[in-house]
Amino acid sequence: MDPALFPIRDQVFRRNPGETEFHQAVVEVFDSLGPMLRKHPEFVDAAVLERICEPERQIILRVPWVDDSGTVRINRGFRVEFNSALGPYKGGLRFHPSVYLGIVKFLGFEQLFKNALTGMPIGGKGGSDFDPRDRSDAEVMRFCQSFMTELYRHIGEYTDVPAGDIGVGGREIGYLFGQYKRITNRYESGVLTGKGVTWGGSLVRPEATGYGTVLFAREMLKARGLDFDGQRVIVSGSGNVAVHAIAKAQHFGATVVACSDSSGYVVEEAGIDVALLRQVKEEERGRISEYAERRGSGAHFVAGGSIWDVGGTVALPCATQNELDESAAGTLITSGVLAVAEGANMPCTPSAVEAFQQAGVLFGPGKAANAGGVATSALEMQQNASRDSWTFEHTEQRLTEIMVGIHHRCATTAEEYGVPGNYVAGANISGHVKVADAMLALGVV
Ligand code: NDP
Repeated sequence: MDPALFPIRDQVFRRNPGETEFHQAVVEVFDSLGPMLRKHPEFVDAAVLERICEPERQIILRVPWVDDSGTVRINRGFRVEFNSALGPYKGGLRFHPSVYLGIVKFLGFEQLFKNALTGMPIGGKGGSDFDPRDRSDAEVMRFCQSFMTELYRHIGEYTDVPAGDIGVGGREIGYLFGQYKRITNRYESGVLTGKGVTWGGSLVRPEATGYGTVLFAREMLKARGLDFDGQRVIVSGSGNVAVHAIAKAQHFGATVVACSDSSGYVVEEAGIDVALLRQVKEEERGRISEYAERRGSGAHFVAGGSIWDVGGTVALPCATQNELDESAAGTLITSGVLAVAEGANMPCTPSAVEAFQQAGVLFGPGKAANAGGVATSALEMQQNASRDSWTFEHTEQRLTEIMVGIHHRCATTAEEYGVPGNYVAGANISGHVKVADAMLALGVV
């Protein structure tokens, strides 16, 4: 890290004590900004970085609700509105017991650069420590209604536009949107993205993050004269991002031999059956072990353990933060991995990223590789604004162009700043310059 950044980093640590994921995200970005600071002293003079690290607004909500047995439950809800220099805040809501301010800030900080890379509006992030797993539909609905009863006053199509993330899919977005509509008496489609297609959603939005990750990885492989055909791929997770990453990788001719959930992983040398996986995980809300049972002898389930032990030529971590550490990176490198693209946010630890880069493995950071989700959210907003709905083919074509564009921006920025092939630096610098330029133009606000 450039020593000029030490005081800003220390201030972030002091102001946000104990928020380790946020600290990690800030350090990861700062590590790549040295060349940019030398080229843009005007950003330093205007304290742009100090301002970027301080969210514009941090909201913490009490979310009371009643479970099916009549017991009153209290959860905490969060929304961190990071930076609106380029447009309304835009970022997903996460419902998971691990959610606290540090996780939401790390996600919002990442989102800021990600949104800038897509050329679309810019970032906020939110969520709650509510765990939707093992809750009935009625409980999830009551929780979502209570959450929105507080959140509605902070969001709006020109203010802040939430979407889904871990634990928040079409069901939750539906309940949230229903309550927003009821309270405000406005059918304001543009206030949330990830809606169902019959009530204002966009085709391709559910697939977009996973598809986009594979499209980004394909561009990285292409730059080395390679493609997906015949690759042995490992995808962690089996949620929204993972299932669509698996589908797209297999569409391009790869064999996805493993996927996982928080209880373990399944290995299937002939390739994961996406249709059955979706049925078990999405329709039945079941576990990956049940998928393995139904596939019979061709698939086996490993409880706990590390999915990265399976080894492959392409790795797509699509579950959660810090799920792939230095030792897992070593295992993947030994197994001959050529490319890693982050479908999840910050799934690789800093030492894992360093190990991949030192070994010459192509590495696509999440803020570039998983930007297809938010980009397609922006396409959903465009359709809502014009009261239009595009075909699957047209929307997917737009997504493809966006992912190719992001890859190009990362690659050319890395080259321009003297670190060719370093997509981490390319993504961080390119996103940062775009936000910083807008902040300079808007004055000290
Ligand atoms: P889902 O809730 O649909 O799926 C999450 C998956 O990850 C599940 O299989 C879950 O298993 C697994 N998982 C969660 N926590 C852990 C853990 N601690 N250890 C191991 N596995 C875990 O979420 P999404 O697919 O939407 O999100 C996945 C990642 O992608 C997140 O990092 C998210 O921020 C990122 N992302 C999502 C976008 C989107 O459009 N949805 C956009 C951009 C990034 P289990 O069911 O057992 O909990």
